[in-house]
Amino acid sequence: MRKYEDTYRHKGMRKKLIDSIRDKGITSEEVLEAMNRLPRHFFLDKALEEIAYQDRAFPIGEGQTISQPYTVAYQTQLLEVKPFDKVLEIGTGSGYQAMVLAEIGAQVFTIERQKKLFDQHKNFFLRSAYPSVKYFYGDGFEGLPTYAPFDRILITAAAPFIPPKLTAQLKTGGMMVLPLNEDDYQRMTRITKMEDGSLKEEKFDNFSFVPMLKGKEY
Ligand code: SAH
Repeated sequence: MRKYEDTYRHKGMRKKLIDSIRDKGITSEEVLEAMNRLPRHFFLDKALEEIAYQDRAFPIGEGQTISQPYTVAYQTQLLEVKPFDKVLEIGTGSGYQAMVLAEIGAQVFTIERQKKLFDQHKNFFLRSAYPSVKYFYGDGFEGLPTYAPFDRILITAAAPFIPPKLTAQLKTGGMMVLPLNEDDYQRMTRITKMEDGSLKEEKFDNFSFVPMLKGKEY
């Protein structure tokens, strides 16, 4: 098998991609730098290596996708992650978003409901480089009560509603970012848990995600 390498050419393409995301309105240099450090082509099938640095979503098997880089940047920026934050991600998928969060210094707990996708991470060669990412096979609607509360929660699949078990696992002052269903698109939404326990809701742009589904799949 050909080895995955991060060549000057890859680095050059990545730099261009990051510049294009900045041009589209992402302002957090911290987020952009984290994405610039992480080779996206490592997360895609070898056959897609040449186009890994286009600002597009790609298939990763099991009918799922690795999110568009702009969307990853958008969600990560809204999440306002600080180093050492405990972050819960729903929808591991390729693991790209989880490692972007780890690049910012977060302690990441990520859940995937598809066994095949979850299993792929066991042998993923980058895994040992990011010991701050912990992988779980389960239903994201349930969260991870054993590890709660979290500073931040990020949902990377289209949520039909704000999952109550997840807001319950959020720290006071904590934030959750999720693409919330509205008609046939999703409205990016940020929830903040206030001192009195109430939830503040902020609305942002529209996106299109694969659905957040109930239960686990084998
Ligand atoms: N964050 C991913 C993008 C994944 S696409 C990345 O960076 O590549 C959304 C993922 O959410 C899919 O892998 C899908 O299987 C998963 N998913 C959907 N519903 C879920 C649920 N209830 N719990 C956990 N994962 C879920």
